[in-house]
Amino acid sequence: MKKKSPDLSYKFPKKGKQAIKVYNKICSELNMDGNVHLDLGSFSTTRMNPYADKLIIEQLGKNFIDYGEYGQTKKIHDRIIALLSGLLNVPNRKSINGTATLGSSEAIHLALLSHKWYWKKRRQSLSLNTAKPNIVYSSNAHVCWDTFALYFDVEPRKILVSSLNTYPLEEILKNIDENTICVGAVAGNTYTGSIDLIEELNNKIVEINSKNNWDIGIHVDAAISGFILPFLKLKESKWDFRLSLVRSINLSGHKFGLVYPGIGWLIFRDGFFLSKELIFSSHYLEKPIETYTLNYSKGASMILAQYFSILQHGISGYKKIIKKCCKTAEIIRKRLKQSDYFEIVDEGILPVVVFKLKTADAVDLDEFQLHLKAKNWMLPVYDIPGNLDPNRFMRIVIKENFNPAMASQLCDDLISVYQKLNNYRL
Ligand SMILES: *Cc1c(COP(=O)(O)O)cnc(C)c1O
Repeated sequence: MKKKSPDLSYKFPKKGKQAIKVYNKICSELNMDGNVHLDLGSFSTTRMNPYADKLIIEQLGKNFIDYGEYGQTKKIHDRIIALLSGLLNVPNRKSINGTATLGSSEAIHLALLSHKWYWKKRRQSLSLNTAKPNIVYSSNAHVCWDTFALYFDVEPRKILVSSLNTYPLEEILKNIDENTICVGAVAGNTYTGSIDLIEELNNKIVEINSKNNWDIGIHVDAAISGFILPFLKLKESKWDFRLSLVRSINLSGHKFGLVYPGIGWLIFRDGFFLSKELIFSSHYLEKPIETYTLNYSKGASMILAQYFSILQHGISGYKKIIKKCCKTAEIIRKRLKQSDYFEIVDEGILPVVVFKLKTADAVDLDEFQLHLKAKNWMLPVYDIPGNLDPNRFMRIVIKENFNPAMASQLCDDLISVYQKLNNYRL
């Protein structure tokens, strides 16, 4: 048999090529990727205004960390922290603190690290043991909660969810103890779009803290809804810094903050909750700079793009876009319900439609997904961690550039693919 020649594309090239040839080669390879605008499971923004694109390209070479050279960019960053703090109802406007990150995962790691230090310093001041920190959150939280626990050596107390859209509040409370650095709550769950019972959680922990002389706070993961809930103004319940124990919140700028991938935000209730030990001063650049980040260098473009989005849309623009997305989501829910093949399982608050097949054994979801892929739609099929039965779902995230005509085409395709597969089986 002829020996297979080695794939040279995995070797560092000996010689370079003309830029145009390189460009064409990479583009033709990328043509095999799916179409980002039809990736319906992803929350990240796929389109911005052409002027935002222009700004991003012009600022691409700027390293955000070089505050000394790029003081104006840092000022804009700080302005964004201030205005997001306002949006999330930080009580003390004089002690605003937060940072841009690469996404919500970095923001969550930084926030939880800060909760860990806050807990540790308080315990040390009371001469108590700090050997066994733990963190309590529900099993349907994002995987970055698990990576935090593993990377930063904190015992994860992951409470299994046993029914959809239900935050296991009682079980969470039972698992809190003197070594709990923080309790996690999610506003806009990645799997179901549900919003945890944050106000109830806050009120219960207030009682538990005062009974035991503990000082456990809450971190709210608002990766998805941080740029949605403030514009929807739901009356029912509070979830942000209006609650006394919410000490930090993360948001993904690259989700409904309407910026391309590569930007997240961490906002603290008060600079007081960010331990000074975690802020590093370095002198590599012109002036000493203080940083609180997991990585050092970072492009400035997406921070500036966030500022662009905020100025371009304002509160009224974000409201309009979110309302439009929610309306389109509602159209999809209605059509899918009418068809009688699908069961909608999301709470209907966010522009995220989560569904399952009504008769799980009639059509295989993986096969269903494949047939949709043949029509260019990309929808994830996933399990939700916990004790759920049945446990296979699909998700459609309605983003700004997903219009009602596309929604209608999608519903036609979902229904016809289902019918086709079901008929095969009969
Ligand atoms: C997307 C998401 C994250 C992670 O955010 P990245 O910005 O992708 O790092 C964390 N939590 C929730 C609830 C999410 O949906």
